[in-house]
Amino acid sequence: MKTSSFHIVPLPTEIADAARRAVNGGTADHALITVDSPGSSPCRHCLRWAQPGERVILFPYAAIPPGHPYSETGPIFVHADGCQRYTATNEYPADFRNGRVFRAYDSNHNIIDAQVADGSEPEVVIESLLRNPDTAFVDVRSVTRGCFTFRVQRA
Ligand SMILES: [Zn+2]
Repeated sequence: MKTSSFHIVPLPTEIADAARRAVNGGTADHALITVDSPGSSPCRHCLRWAQPGERVILFPYAAIPPGHPYSETGPIFVHADGCQRYTATNEYPADFRNGRVFRAYDSNHNIIDAQVADGSEPEVVIESLLRNPDTAFVDVRSVTRGCFTFRVQRA
């Protein structure tokens, strides 16, 4: 399903590359992990599940930067050995259609609404959150673990 009212914002390549440099430098809060089960480690750069045998880096990421009441830093994965940043930014990523919560933020980084898909298509949930003119962006997270997956911005 193509979207017209929003686009997908994967993790910037410079952040993925910085994590790759940090793990090679032995930074304590960057862990190098070999994936052993499918559907366990979503890469925030290519927006695919890492496959068993692939190596990923687990590190903390400030999805909502410091200096706001809703500031939030949490663990994310990226492929350790390089991957192409997700390019189909007008299509909701197929790997993450289930198990996500959608949080709407205003332009001051305050959470103003949140929904789980509950059987609806993710596009329908996102479009309903964007109907509120105060919604500046929507962050998509794991409904079980709470981890940031990707951002959605108005087109
Ligand atoms: Zn990747």
